[in-house]
Amino acid sequence: MSSSALSILQQVFGYEAFRGHQADIVQAVIAGGDALVLMPTGGGKSLCYQIPAIARQGDGKGVTIVVSPLIALMHDQVGALHEAGVAAAFLNSSLSYEEAQDIERKLMRGELTLLYAAPERVTTPRFLSQLDRLQENGRLSLFAIDEAHCVSQWGHDFRPEYRELAVLHERYPKVPRIALTATADALTREDIVERLQLQEARQFVSSFDRPNIRYRIAEKKDPSAQLLRFIESEHEGDAGIVYCQSRKRVEETAQMLCSHGLDALPYHAGLDAEMRQRHQDRFLRDDGVVMVATIAFGMGIDKPDVRFVAHLDMPKNIEGYYQETGRAGRDGQPSQAWMLYGLQDVVNQRRMIDESPAGEEFKQVMRGKLDALLTLAESTDCRRVRLLAYFGEPSQPCGNCDNCLSPPNVWDGTEAARKLLSTVYRVQQMSGISFGAGHVMDILRGKKTDKVAQFRHEQVSTFGLGAEYSEQQLRGVMRQLIAIGALSVDAEAFNTLRLTEGSRAVLRGEQPVTLRESVAQSSGGRRKRER
Ligand code: ADP
Ligand code: ZN
Repeated sequence: MSSSALSILQQVFGYEAFRGHQADIVQAVIAGGDALVLMPTGGGKSLCYQIPAIARQGDGKGVTIVVSPLIALMHDQVGALHEAGVAAAFLNSSLSYEEAQDIERKLMRGELTLLYAAPERVTTPRFLSQLDRLQENGRLSLFAIDEAHCVSQWGHDFRPEYRELAVLHERYPKVPRIALTATADALTREDIVERLQLQEARQFVSSFDRPNIRYRIAEKKDPSAQLLRFIESEHEGDAGIVYCQSRKRVEETAQMLCSHGLDALPYHAGLDAEMRQRHQDRFLRDDGVVMVATIAFGMGIDKPDVRFVAHLDMPKNIEGYYQETGRAGRDGQPSQAWMLYGLQDVVNQRRMIDESPAGEEFKQVMRGKLDALLTLAESTDCRRVRLLAYFGEPSQPCGNCDNCLSPPNVWDGTEAARKLLSTVYRVQQMSGISFGAGHVMDILRGKKTDKVAQFRHEQVSTFGLGAEYSEQQLRGVMRQLIAIGALSVDAEAFNTLRLTEGSRAVLRGEQPVTLRESVAQSSGGRRKRER
């Protein structure tokens, strides 16, 4: 068996040898077993089902159905398969009725080795009855479910249509299935197994480490200037992706970069399809294009020489962050993942969770995930060790992240946190209303502003008790407090600060608060590229 898999790899795809777990996966699937494959982006998941598809087509008439969520992805894959001389096609909403009919005819005649289809298509009664006919003739050889994390609401890209895919197992229990994803935290993984009924599947978990990517996370001060400095001093002429939270910020940032002579293009769901396509094509085809985008951009984009991925705003969890940064350096050359984060990011993300229509249990999980990312951002030890640990993979300090390269100083913010929380408490007691972060900091630092005078807040017992702290330090403290749930921001009342249940432990000094020291110039900016 494995020799035929190897010859397919070499003769059809032109590669010398299998990588990582590929050989084992391919062999298990060819033998008819179910498999769950967890492999980082760029790891080579496609061959894990493409080779079994070819090997299992029997007399040449068996077909593999590949469920894929994205039209662009299907398009690229089918194009690449055609180049390799493999009979493949896709069925999705980009086809006309006639084109779709033509593909269906080919499918039924046994002329396709792989058929890519969107999940909502696969689960229609019409398509299922076609699968029934194929099954009766023994021509249904394999199901491949790509981007399998879409089945899980804990994943970062939940698609309800994926839930319906359990029907494949119920209806065709003898047809093997391979599910693949680059998202692998334990919760999502368990959910995939359960939702897709993959309890019997062998799990293949690859290392998620991307050693050529240097991780850097810095505090957001003047984001545009920080980004510009980063690109100009370290990535001149390189292709990169800059992720922003909102469409507006995408537009502004792209313009800002262009005005400094960089070749930057915006990409977000608010642009028309034709412009998006044009920008994507330019990014893929031309050298040194910087794509400024929302997370609408990226899935299925296989550009090997993306030298940096920058996050101008904090994503909502580590899975998203890792997926997005994983688009850097697929060619194995040194690349950077660079992120800025600030108090406002935490506040925004928290608010989005709080205001979402989801159930309380779900919100709780999402808050936990946000906290994990914030903890990563605030961490003072190896970023890679923390990232990999999050995915259940033990490792040693990497020597190739900002914290390894220039270890930050830390300070104990426990006392500052207590003073801050008691200030929030006392002004609320005294004035009967809550106040925002700026005013609370002014009181603690003993600044006699108009607002302080107006509310007579110089009489608050903590007034001036935090004069030794800089505003930046106090912002750091607040970020941490919000992250651990010891302080909340009321978005509906002018972003005023409120104490929470969790405030008590900090006020009593039972919960230590450790922070990284903000150095005036953020670290890790040395020019070092061994290309
Ligand atoms: P993923 O889907 O896991 O992100 P892909 O399947 O797109 O990754 O593969 C990433 C790249 O690696 C592709 O360009 C692919 O052709 C290449 N690749 C995959 N397996 C091998 C291999 N065994 N040898 C050489 N190149 C490979
Ligand atoms: Zn490190």
